[in-house]
Amino acid sequence: MSKIERKKPGKVAGARSEIEKRLPLACADERAAVEFMEEQRWNGEPACPKCGVVGECYKMTDATTGERNARFLWRCRACGKQFTVKVGTIMEDSPIPLTAWCYGFWKACSSKKGVSALQIQRQTGLSYKSALFMMHRIRWAMGPANEAESKLTGVVEFDETYVGGRPRRRSMKADGGVRKGPGWDSASARRP
Ligand SMILES: [Zn+2]
Repeated sequence: MSKIERKKPGKVAGARSEIEKRLPLACADERAAVEFMEEQRWNGEPACPKCGVVGECYKMTDATTGERNARFLWRCRACGKQFTVKVGTIMEDSPIPLTAWCYGFWKACSSKKGVSALQIQRQTGLSYKSALFMMHRIRWAMGPANEAESKLTGVVEFDETYVGGRPRRRSMKADGGVRKGPGWDSASARRP
């Protein structure tokens, strides 16, 4: 039997990804959330979700203030269409602010036991219906790309799992007439 290689504990659990560090900040402010999503999606090279052209998109500005458009719109020079970072993603067609989306993604990724729509509702101020809609979309996006795709392939590693129920008292007969007490182990019991 080959030796099972184990990773040093703590190394994986302790290291927080860059995204995980930045998500809480993105949840606090809509501009920060939009810029976070834009960077995640385009990495500085916005592509038009309407025609697919890269490098022809620019941020629209407010005519009076010169600041970035309040709706965080972009425009494509190639096709003339306007869009936001939501277009062409699961965040499209909903008025849910990006701060709430960031919070939903963050909790869906970081909670060990998953997150309920009720928790999301409490933290984001969304209606229960909106929270449920958002979490459905997030879970759908986190699922396999198609039904035929297997959920887990290759080497699968997992931490802190618990398989089975509580240990139960076994009968003497099932243990081969050996009373198990402190210090008992199967190796010494089998020795002649
Ligand atoms: Zn375009």
